[in-house]
Amino acid sequence: MNNYLFDAIRTAATEDATFIETPDGGRLSYADMFDRSGRLAAAICELGVLPGDRVAVQVEKSPDALMLYLACVRAGAVYLPLNTAYTLKELDYFVGDAEPKLIVVSSRSLEGAHAIASAYGAHVATLDETGGGSLLDLARTKKANFADVNRDGDDLAAILYTSGTTGRSKGAMLTHDNLLSNAVTLRRAWRFTSADRLIHALPIFHTHGLFVATNVTLLAGASMYLLPKFDPHEALQLMPAASVMMGVPTFYVRLLQHPGLTRKATTGMRLFVSGSAPLLAETHRSFHEKTGHAILERYGMTETNMNTSNPYVGDRIAGTVGFPLDGVEVRITDPDSGRTLASEETGMIEVKGPNVFKGYWRMPEKTAAEFRADGFFITGDLGKIDERGYVHIVGRGKDLVISGGYNIYPKEIETEIDSLPGVVESAVIGVPHPDFGEGVTAIVVADKDVGLDEQTILDGLVDRLARYKQPKRVIFVDELPRNTMGKVQKNLLRNAYAQLYN
Ligand code: ATP
Ligand code: MG
Repeated sequence: MNNYLFDAIRTAATEDATFIETPDGGRLSYADMFDRSGRLAAAICELGVLPGDRVAVQVEKSPDALMLYLACVRAGAVYLPLNTAYTLKELDYFVGDAEPKLIVVSSRSLEGAHAIASAYGAHVATLDETGGGSLLDLARTKKANFADVNRDGDDLAAILYTSGTTGRSKGAMLTHDNLLSNAVTLRRAWRFTSADRLIHALPIFHTHGLFVATNVTLLAGASMYLLPKFDPHEALQLMPAASVMMGVPTFYVRLLQHPGLTRKATTGMRLFVSGSAPLLAETHRSFHEKTGHAILERYGMTETNMNTSNPYVGDRIAGTVGFPLDGVEVRITDPDSGRTLASEETGMIEVKGPNVFKGYWRMPEKTAAEFRADGFFITGDLGKIDERGYVHIVGRGKDLVISGGYNIYPKEIETEIDSLPGVVESAVIGVPHPDFGEGVTAIVVADKDVGLDEQTILDGLVDRLARYKQPKRVIFVDELPRNTMGKVQKNLLRNAYAQLYN
């Protein structure tokens, strides 16, 4: 028996320690985890899943859903989780792309999934968050002492599709070593121990909730409160007994709106982590003022797991994503020539390390195009490394605005707009403009009580930004369009305002 990732999970576990607690008072020990994931591994093998086969999973968040992830690891299968919001049409695309041997869905999606599965020759089984479903029924008939399938560090553990923020989701092939090396690094960086209790309110179809939160907990032999979704009130109630929370920026924004967020309510907590989207410096500051905790912001992506993190000990600087993690190399390059830039110069963020994926599933050309000859992965994010070594992200390459021949980084303009009185948040986009190529356009969410107008914002920016960076138009909206990970969907904004200057 030699299963690269699961052997490490075994080594870290104590059988009678708690792994998962649920809001209904449910508790799963590590022994239960071995038992249930073993039975599920046996069940998927009986359904014909062989090592290397993909298992596509679109189910609600539950302890059993996590057991299925571990079952796939143990069975040598490639786990392929899908966003629960995806429609049947989208499911059809992913199944066609990944060709899984088995598709696991909720009972209520069975009919639609059946049609898709039969078109591609896959099996279908069900798993419900309430403990029902054909796969769980089959698992209950199996023995728990499953013999883990041999897997090396270089074998695939998962194909995780990217969030689709900039275009069609791409399948990132992640190996056992990609996942294990990153979890071990994060455990050390964030000082996880078996005494930790994590508030887990993130979805488990995304790298943040699945790999960062779950694998770090497992590799520390720690425990987590597994919540179906984030509710600030519930999170606050759990904090006295918890120690860590991982969240997307919206979790922190919502906590700040809750009157229960105080220094006292968070004294038992040792760490708040944020990632997946930029945390506003303002959120970082307000959270610190109210609680005394400096949120630790880190940066990662589906393809690379986590790349950088603010320090556990030392200054956690708002608006930065901290230092490269142990074993991860980060450099900034000129997007055109690929030449490495000096500190403080803005360019393309490139990364290299054991965390970086094997390539995009069935996209050899795209994979080749995104890697440099010396093995660095071109992230598509623009940023800089400052003189102290902190990495700053200024936005995605695809969101760069080119107006009148100038490169304009949206984050710089958003930061200035956000600091004006009465502004809640903003998104700066480029939309087609007859004279400038693209017109800098600000979409702003304003505080309702302040009564801001376009001219006030434009006037407020005159002394702060060079003329070419100043927005041509400011548009007010009630809220910015966000996906489930709290990422602002700038492509939707660009479409919505495409005709603005015509
Ligand atoms: P797609 O690649 O399909 O367009 P996506 O890039 O949003 O979608 P993910 O892999 O979920 O898919 O997200 C990774 C991206 O999220 C990073 O490339 C970066 O742009 C952004 N990101 C992650 N963490 C941070 C952070 N702390 N600050 C700013 N941006 C972040
Ligand atoms: Mg991406």
